[in-house]
Amino acid sequence: MRAALNALTDELKRLKASGVKSVVVSEESLATLHKVVGTRAKANGAKGNAPAEVPVKTEVAAKTPSTTSVPVVAYKAPTAKFTVKPIEPVPAEKFPSPPTVSLPPGDKQTRWNALFQLVLNDPVCKAHVRPGKKLVLGVGNLDARIFFCGEAPGAEEEEQGEPFVGPAGQLLTRMILGMGLKRSDVYIGNIMNWRPEMPVAAGGAQYGNRPPTAGELAYCLPYLKAQLEVVNPEIIVALGSTAVQGLFGAGSFKTLGEIRSQWKLFAEKPVMVTYHPSYILRNPTNRSKRAIWEDLLKVMERASLPITDKQQNFFLEK
Ligand code: URA
Repeated sequence: MRAALNALTDELKRLKASGVKSVVVSEESLATLHKVVGTRAKANGAKGNAPAEVPVKTEVAAKTPSTTSVPVVAYKAPTAKFTVKPIEPVPAEKFPSPPTVSLPPGDKQTRWNALFQLVLNDPVCKAHVRPGKKLVLGVGNLDARIFFCGEAPGAEEEEQGEPFVGPAGQLLTRMILGMGLKRSDVYIGNIMNWRPEMPVAAGGAQYGNRPPTAGELAYCLPYLKAQLEVVNPEIIVALGSTAVQGLFGAGSFKTLGEIRSQWKLFAEKPVMVTYHPSYILRNPTNRSKRAIWEDLLKVMERASLPITDKQQNFFLEK
C-alpha cells in the first residue's frame, strides 16, 4: 500500500507541475485514502485521521457527474477497488525516433486508408494502446478547408476510435455548428494517436488524462503531417497549448495567452491558435466563450465564410 500511495503522490505532483490544478476523486476513493493515510499517520505516531498530503486540490465527484463540474478528467466512478499501478511518462530522450511516413500515390481516400493502416500497424502505437482500446486517427471531410487539431484521445475517444467524441468533442461540434458548418464539413485530428497512459485501477481501467510528453508528441507528429498532406486544408485551428507544442515544439511559447488569437504558419499553412474546448468546460463564462469565438471569427473571415450579425455578437455581454 505504501508503494501505491507513493506512486499516487508522485503522479499528483507531476500533474501539478504540468499545470493541473485539481483532480476529481470519488467519495469512495477519498474514504479509502483517508482510511489508509489515517492508519499510516497513527503508525507514525501522528494524531487521528490526518488528511493525505495531496499536492493538487482534490474535488469529490458529484453523485451524477456533469461535464462542467468535472474540471480535469472525464470521470466514471470506479467499480473495482482502487489499486495504483504506476506507469511513468516516458522521458523524451528515451522515446523511439519518429516514424518516416510515405504514402502511396492515389486519391485522398486511398492515401488516408494507407495512412490509417500504417498507424494501426505501428509497433510503438500498438505498444501504447491498452487492451480493448483503439488507436485514433483524424476524422472528417478529406476535402475540408478547415483542419481542427487537438491534443490526444481521451476515454471516449480510445473506446470509439474517433477523435473528439467525449464532452470536449461535443462542445467542439457545437462550435463548428456556430460557425455555420457541420462536423462533416471539417477535418478533426489530434497530435497523438493514443491516449497517454496513466496509472490504472484494478481491472485495467484508466481514470484521468495527462498531457503527452515531448517524445510522444514528436513521435506522432509525422502522422499528423501526413493527414495535413492528404487533406491539404486552407486553415489549421490549433486547439490548446498541447496542440501548439506538438506543432511548434515544446518550449515554443511560455503561455498560450502569449500566442492565442494569432496566425502562425505550420507546413506552409496558416494556423489559428486558440483555447482547447475543455478550457470552456472548466470556465463556462461568456468571457472565455467569447475569447475562443473571436478566434473562430478570424478563421471564418480568413475562409471567407459568411458571418451574420448574430454570429458576430455571440457571447457578448448584454
Ligand atoms: N481532447 C483532444 O484534444 N482530443 C480528443 O480527441 C478529445 C479530447
